[in-house]
Amino acid sequence: MVPFNIHSPIEPLDFQLFREKSITVDIKRDDKIHPFISGNKWRKLKYVLQSARRAGKTHLVTFGGAWSNHLVATACAGATFGFKTTGLVRGEAVSNPVLSLCKLYGMTLHFVDRTAYRNKPQLYDQYAATDPQAYFVDEGGYSAEGAAGYAEIIDELPHTYDHIFCACGTGTTIAGLLNGCVSRAPETRLHGVMVLGGGDFIPDAVRKLYPGMPQDRLITHTGYHCGGYAKTTPALIAFIKAFTAKTGILIEPVYTGKLLYSLFDLAEHDYFKAGDRILVIHTGGLTGILGLHEQFA
Ligand SMILES: *Cc1c(COP(=O)(O)O)cnc(C)c1O
Repeated sequence: MVPFNIHSPIEPLDFQLFREKSITVDIKRDDKIHPFISGNKWRKLKYVLQSARRAGKTHLVTFGGAWSNHLVATACAGATFGFKTTGLVRGEAVSNPVLSLCKLYGMTLHFVDRTAYRNKPQLYDQYAATDPQAYFVDEGGYSAEGAAGYAEIIDELPHTYDHIFCACGTGTTIAGLLNGCVSRAPETRLHGVMVLGGGDFIPDAVRKLYPGMPQDRLITHTGYHCGGYAKTTPALIAFIKAFTAKTGILIEPVYTGKLLYSLFDLAEHDYFKAGDRILVIHTGGLTGILGLHEQFA
């Protein structure tokens, strides 16, 4: 079995804006963990796969939209660690580069209509109940095990930070950060940048994974979704181009573009105090560029 433990590098972000505000900003390059298992997906799948293996299961069944980083991560992890994989894909049958990657990694895909997609346990029964080897993996890797895998990132930090920023989809990543900080970084504030519209469901999503865990250090930023999931604005696209060209660090419009855009916007508006140490997590997901590449033409 390929070792699952990784240690991604931390690099400083050098910008005039940060010098003016007397803050330091580092970026944790989880995008370097693997080209197709998005950084946070890798961490989130670690204990999920271990549990599946312990239960003697050899077939991962999971869910996602047609551009889902989680689907391709599960397909690739399955191929790497010796599991068969099935992806139940929301919506009408389409083909795109992400789904082709899933197939290339050996995943079997079934397209399911949007109404049926809402009831995942029922879908799972429909497609997998007859297979005693099947193992349910929720959309986005949402689970306490996913969060537990993510929590380990805190052990890789060289010192504590005043603020840690990540992009939020299902909330599993930030739940893991919260868990990881409880004993190891009591002063760190955690910022989740919502990439979907539709309100702030992160506190609830975190509570379901960790009932009773205090959330006072958790801050969610809901003003940076740019119109909703995978929606963009000209300002966001311009920002992504400028950031990537200046740093050589590729970011994309669905998650990490919105994440870094929010950080710069907050810094410009004096959100931080002089001396603050900030860590931003590059969660990977560079396939997000493929679906929106025309915007960079
Ligand atoms: C899936 C994903 C996220 C969202 O993570 P959650 O744990 O679902 O909140 C963030 N960034 C990238 C690049 C992703 O692919």
